[in-house]
Amino acid sequence: MHQYFSDLLDLTDRKPVWWQEGGVPRFAEFHPDNAPDIYADEVALVEIACQACRTRFNVCMTSSPSRRVMASLIADRSSEQIAEASEGLRISSQIKAGKLNWGDPPNITCCAAGPSMSADMVKVLEFHHRRHLEYVEGTVITNLAAYNEWRRNADFEVQIEEKAQ
Ligand SMILES: [Zn+2]
Repeated sequence: MHQYFSDLLDLTDRKPVWWQEGGVPRFAEFHPDNAPDIYADEVALVEIACQACRTRFNVCMTSSPSRRVMASLIADRSSEQIAEASEGLRISSQIKAGKLNWGDPPNITCCAAGPSMSADMVKVLEFHHRRHLEYVEGTVITNLAAYNEWRRNADFEVQIEEKAQ
């Protein structure tokens, strides 16, 4: 269950435009440059629904190489196994495998039970990625700006669950 961020939510009558990891409300237009993890190489804006009352939220999911590796470090794994597990933690891999999961919805006290129940995944609205390997030769990045430029890829912008109603 996430915190109800009264210090942010009670400042304004405006509704948050999107939510970052941790259930933190954001009020600016969504852009991957505004994602919380500055090292992210994959960023998705995903529509989720409260399991109990079906309130919708647009949430930002991020993935970065170092976080993937850290989450894959398990004792007795070989470096190849760590690399493979790390690739499986990419947002793109999770979308392909049908395993993308957010967890508890942002807490706006939408209903009594919802904030403590895992949210339903509805749709990937936007998928952005960067660190483009065509700008890497050996260990050298040949064009840093192009390498780090966000590209949107509609192949990963998929319906996950049939919308209720
Ligand atoms: Zn709810």
